[in-house]
Amino acid sequence: DTPIHVIGGGLAGSEAAWQIAEAGARVVLHEMRPVRRTDAHQTDGLAELVCSNSFRSDDWAYNAVGLLHAEMRRCSSLIMKTADAHQVPAGGALAVDREGFSAAVTAALEAHPNVTIVREEVAGAPPADWDSVIVATGPLTSPALSEAIGALTGEEGLSFFDAIAPIVHLETIDMSVAWRQSRYDKEGPGGDAAAYINCPMDKAQYDAFIDALLAGPKAEFKEWEHVPYFDGCLPIEVMAERGRETLRHGPMKPVGLTNPHDPTVKPWAIVQLRQDNALGTLWNMVGFQTKLKHGAQTEVFRTIPGLEKAVFARLGGLHRNTFINSPRVLDASLRLKADPRLRFAGQVTGVEGYVESAAVGLLAGRFAAAERLGRPVMTPPPTTALGALIGHITGGHMAGGSFQPMNINYGLLPPMEAPRRNAEGRRMPQAERGRAKKRLMSERALADLDAWLGGAVAAAAE
Ligand code: FAD
Repeated sequence: DTPIHVIGGGLAGSEAAWQIAEAGARVVLHEMRPVRRTDAHQTDGLAELVCSNSFRSDDWAYNAVGLLHAEMRRCSSLIMKTADAHQVPAGGALAVDREGFSAAVTAALEAHPNVTIVREEVAGAPPADWDSVIVATGPLTSPALSEAIGALTGEEGLSFFDAIAPIVHLETIDMSVAWRQSRYDKEGPGGDAAAYINCPMDKAQYDAFIDALLAGPKAEFKEWEHVPYFDGCLPIEVMAERGRETLRHGPMKPVGLTNPHDPTVKPWAIVQLRQDNALGTLWNMVGFQTKLKHGAQTEVFRTIPGLEKAVFARLGGLHRNTFINSPRVLDASLRLKADPRLRFAGQVTGVEGYVESAAVGLLAGRFAAAERLGRPVMTPPPTTALGALIGHITGGHMAGGSFQPMNINYGLLPPMEAPRRNAEGRRMPQAERGRAKKRLMSERALADLDAWLGGAVAAAAE
């Protein structure tokens, strides 16, 4: 009856501990607050929301995070059950009374007979006699533990800052303007000579773009963030500040590429996008990490020819964020390949957001409990939001690009085609078809999740 140890009582660790306890295994939850604080948390409550009080859209049919809510509710998520009980009015979003929410999560875990809560920092590698551990210490993992994790993953396996470039849904790129080609037709990360999508700019467009970058509002760093700029990942606006031509000689250099739509005109600058997920539905803007505010990003990046109607799966950013290179260092059930008694969960695995962090906690908890109880460890199907999320962090991400944190979005799920005509036989406009497609994907996700849960119930009964 050895317990499973969960380190970190945030969104992910609280959910993981709950899932383990409910499955019938014992769990010790180690939370360092209030003994040791972080730079963002204000209280000693479990599952403290450090910033906004919103879990974003609650619309399961047309919004990927809403779908994730629905799936988590079906998995008896403590975080979702408590959020539902502590809702405050927020239109179509699920927002919560943060104090009531955190107090109720804390009380539920304290009251559970299978849970022991210890208020201490795990200040180094977990002791050798802990045979099953979930590390859920979040973006502000304490330095002593980060160091121990770094020693296990190697320097390349752990990041302390994210440098996020925007990601675009492929279907919203105008390919009558953009084209597929690798520089000098050399093989790109996709293994072919047409690995990139290229968007051409003439001089006037480039000049206007630089002006907009320089003038656009930037997000401020928190005082404690102290983000050092590494030369490989300078924000584009910082590059633009260094000189108007810097970008044209850097990520936007127009060399080795010929625009097939008009081969006689040589572009003044070129924006490149690289495939970001194995499905090929999402493409990131190469070298476009930025601190521009989100509204300004959408406005400025839609001035790029070919991206006028771009829909962004993720906008750019730069934050202090401890996370591991999950696709490289974790196996499919979130275990560290270098030390399989350790699982990882939450934002430290390279997902982004309260809900996503809790979702990965839910899965890590279920996997660890199944392993402890001698049941098969079953990962959810890739057609579900839970499956898509874990697939992204453990394998779906393209090996060539740098791994950066990600929110759940439909681009992570295998695509489906919506019919061209609606039930009444009327031809559907593009936007309506897009909605119909989301609904079909959401319905498929919930049906497949139920089948997966049914399998887990059957396995537990054996
Ligand atoms: P956390 O919720 O941070 O939980 C980790 C826990 O581990 C903490 O309680 C910490 O005290 C504890 N811990 C750390 N090290 C140790 C150790 N060595 N031993 C024991 N305990 C330890 N997401 C959103 O969706 N909306 C937002 O508005 C939002 N704002 C954010 C603002 C900031 C400043 C930051 C840093 C992140 C924000 N995020 C936001 C991102 C992210 O979703 C949250 O950080 C989320 O809380 C991550 O969940 P988690 O469980 O992985 O980590």
